[in-house]
Amino acid sequence: MTSRIAYLPCDASTEAILCYSLHESETFGRYIGVRMHELAIAHSIVATCERSADGRKVVEVVLWIGTLSGVVPEAVEFCFDACAKGTLLEGTRLVIERVEAKARCSRCRAEFPVQAYFDPCPLCGALGNEILAGEELRVREIEVE
Ligand SMILES: [Zn+2]
Repeated sequence: MTSRIAYLPCDASTEAILCYSLHESETFGRYIGVRMHELAIAHSIVATCERSADGRKVVEVVLWIGTLSGVVPEAVEFCFDACAKGTLLEGTRLVIERVEAKARCSRCRAEFPVQAYFDPCPLCGALGNEILAGEELRVREIEVE
């Protein structure tokens, strides 16, 4: 018998790491420290899930990673098992769902998919649009025994 816990609040450390990762990728480029910060993110995910699991074994973790989050899913996956060793998440199935980025035009209000923060509106060419989705880094759900 398992039960599910949904929408774990992103804890402060995860937010901090996310800000750090965005800052870092802007400042130093894509190649520096990627593995390091995904390792820190994986640690933070394990800690968040352990707190919510409240002593029960975690069977599955569903993670949302937005395409604008600056987080590399494969790297999180790579680090997750190592971070989970010896915790309630050892051997847990990790499911990563990508959240496609979407924006709303500041001028014509159209909603459209974006690949990057400053993509112009495809209909009217406006810049500075509102990001609606794609910045997610959160535990969507965990399944516990
Ligand atoms: Zn527009």
